[in-house]
Amino acid sequence: MSTVAVLAGDGIGPEVTRAAVRVLRAVRPDVRCEEVEVGGAAMERGDPPLPARARHLCERSVAILFGAVGLPQYEGLPLEERPEHALFTLRHSFDLFANLRPVRVYPGLEPASNLKPAVIEGLDFIVVRELTSGIYFGQPKELRMTEGGEEAVDTMYYSAAQIERIARVAFALASSRRSRVTSVDKQNILATSGLWRRVVSDVARDYPNVALDHLLVDNASMQLIRRPKDFDIILTENMFGDILSDEAAMLTGSVGNLPSASLGTGISSGPVFGMYEPISGTAPDIAGRDIANPTAAILSAALLLRHSLADENGARRIENAVERSFAAGARTADLREQGAPSLTTTAFTDVVIDHLK
Ligand code: NAD
Repeated sequence: MSTVAVLAGDGIGPEVTRAAVRVLRAVRPDVRCEEVEVGGAAMERGDPPLPARARHLCERSVAILFGAVGLPQYEGLPLEERPEHALFTLRHSFDLFANLRPVRVYPGLEPASNLKPAVIEGLDFIVVRELTSGIYFGQPKELRMTEGGEEAVDTMYYSAAQIERIARVAFALASSRRSRVTSVDKQNILATSGLWRRVVSDVARDYPNVALDHLLVDNASMQLIRRPKDFDIILTENMFGDILSDEAAMLTGSVGNLPSASLGTGISSGPVFGMYEPISGTAPDIAGRDIANPTAAILSAALLLRHSLADENGARRIENAVERSFAAGARTADLREQGAPSLTTTAFTDVVIDHLK
């Protein structure tokens, strides 16, 4: 029996993860879901953000279903003392370098977006974000006191090998879709982007059927609003991907809609260990009220089936159930039109489970 480690975390994490586990169990009752506390939930019991028992559970699981971590009371502390440290440790220790963020506008959800329906109708692209390097991990990274006063430094670092492996993921994915990769960098300013553009262009030669173009990140952020339907795969580094995918989420009407998969090596050759989670945070402003949108968590469970259990049928069943639920008018508060009624997290999940049948 396959075991999935369920790390729900803080804020809305437990609410949306509960929804995802219910859907996963309905589709695959044979998968064992084992839960353990991480982040602020673990720290409140006197444990570190990623307790040893959580790490051990992940090591003996086929995948991690993750909620979100981070609580207001820990803001301002060094990263190692914050709940978010659990997330960075997991990404790094399992070398989950390939972060896939599918962006889709489901039929009927167009009014939830701030953009005109014609601009976003049928939108369907994937952000492929490098996740274990770049400015979030480069050293030195510190706040320090000098004779001139306080200063801080972050380091943006990429090796050619790190760029090549994420580029190969993007081109392989594009080959199974509309065969177009848009690589996003800041080549006019950053040395890492110069290397990025050169390595991505070299990798492209191995995929002659895939069209490659390059955009500077500032232009990419404009084109995402102007002509989002032109994108198939957006390939980019860690921080640019973090920012652009939140922008992309809003094309779909809510950050609560976007799932993600973080995968390690072997992704092109079959099922692979991965961590699956909504792209949003813990949403402390709505936590504990059963009103969060669980779509991202539910769709993350679909990605888990696809990439870690090689269960394409199960993944599609979940995605189709979400699509049909939206088509039937089911909406959580973040997606409802003005004056229209909305469903709780639990009630929306019930509708999705009904549509699995
Ligand atoms: P956030 O994503 O938690 O919330 C931003 C806004 O989006 C809020 O108004 C929130 O209510 C709304 N929102 C988010 N998810 C939603 C959902 N499923 N349904 C409806 N509305 C939703 O970002 P934030 O407020 O900047 O961060 C809150 C905390 O989360 C911080 O501590 C941050 O460090 C942490 N965080 C964690 C992760 C993660 O665990 N992967 C990612 C981002 C932020």
